[in-house]
Amino acid sequence: MAEADTAPIAPPARIGLIGLGRMGLPMGRRLLAAGFAVRGYDAAERALAAFAEAGGIPCVSAAEAAAEAQAVITMLPDGAAVARVALDGEAPLIRAMRPGAILIDMSSSAPLSTRRLGERFAEAGLALADAPVSGGVKKAEAGTLSIMVGGSLLARIRPVLDAMGSAIFETGPLGSAHAMKALNNYVSAAGLIATCEALQVGAAFGLDPAVMTDILNVSTGRNNTTENKLKSFILPETYDSGFGLALMTKDIGIAVDLADALERPAPFSHAVVGFAREALARLGQEADHTEVDRYLKLLAAEDR
Ligand code: NAD
Repeated sequence: MAEADTAPIAPPARIGLIGLGRMGLPMGRRLLAAGFAVRGYDAAERALAAFAEAGGIPCVSAAEAAAEAQAVITMLPDGAAVARVALDGEAPLIRAMRPGAILIDMSSSAPLSTRRLGERFAEAGLALADAPVSGGVKKAEAGTLSIMVGGSLLARIRPVLDAMGSAIFETGPLGSAHAMKALNNYVSAAGLIATCEALQVGAAFGLDPAVMTDILNVSTGRNNTTENKLKSFILPETYDSGFGLALMTKDIGIAVDLADALERPAPFSHAVVGFAREALARLGQEADHTEVDRYLKLLAAEDR
C-alpha cells in the first residue's frame, strides 16, 4: 500500500461531498473553512447553487465529485440512497473512486446495509467507514457535531471529521456507528413524543407550558426536547428545527428493524414508530419532526 493510502487525510486534500442538503451544506462549509478542496454534488440544482455560493466546486455528477478525491463523504437521506449512488447507474462511486480512497457515509443509514456495502467496496479495493452525526443543523454550522465512527479507519479520517465535529467516538466494527445512531434517534424521538404529549395534557389541566418546561429542565423528565426544542420550535409553533419528520421516522424504523433482526423484544420502539408513521402520513413528507406536537393537537381537536 502506498504511503498516501495510510497517512491521515489532511488539508488541502481533495474531498468529494455527495448530498448538500440541510446538513451536507453546512458540513461542506466547515470542510472548506478547514482548507480542504471540496467538490460537491447534489441531485437538486438549488443545493448545488448554494454550495457554489459557499465557495465549493459544484459537479455535474457524484462520479465527477469523487474522481481523484482521497475521501468521499455521503450525506444523503438514507442507506438506500447511499447504495444507489455507490453501486448503481452508469458511473457509481465504486467505479469512480480512485484506488485506496475511503467512502465515509455520514448519513443515518441502516447498519446491516452498511455492512453489505462494505463487503462490495472491499472486493473493489475501496474502504468504507460509517460516521453518522448528531447535533442537527446548528451544530453542523458551528462544526461541533458529535460523530460516531465504525470501522477501523479513524486515524486516517480524523482530520476530516475534526473539521465538522467536536466529539468523536469509535463504536466498533463497520456498521456499529449506524446502529448507535439509529438507537440514539429512537431514544430522542421517544423523548420528543412523550414530552409533547405531557405538555398538552398539562395544558389541558391548566398548567402553563412555559412553566412546565422550566420545571422539566431541572427535574428527572429533562431531555433534549425539553432543553433544546420546546422554547425554540414547539411552544412558539414555528416547527422549524431543520430535521424532517420523514428522516426521524426512517431512523426509528432502522432501530426497530435492528431489534427485530436480533430477535430482541422491543414493544415500545414498535409503538413509537407506529405513532411516527401515522403522524407522517397525516402531515406529509415535508413536515418538521417537531410537528408531532401539531399532530397531537389535531388529534385532540378531532376528539372534541
Ligand atoms: P436533506 O433532505 O436536507 O438533504 C439530503 C440531500 O440529498 C438533498 O439535498 C437531496 O437533493 C440530496 N439527494 C438525495 N438523493 C440524492 C442522490 N441520489 N444523489 C445526489 N443527491 C441526492 O437531509 P438532511 O437533513 O441534510 O439529512 C441528511 C442525513 O443526515 C440523513 O440521513 C439524516 O437522517 C441525517 N441527519 C440529519 C440531521 C438534521 O438535523 N437534519 C441531523 C443528524 C443526521
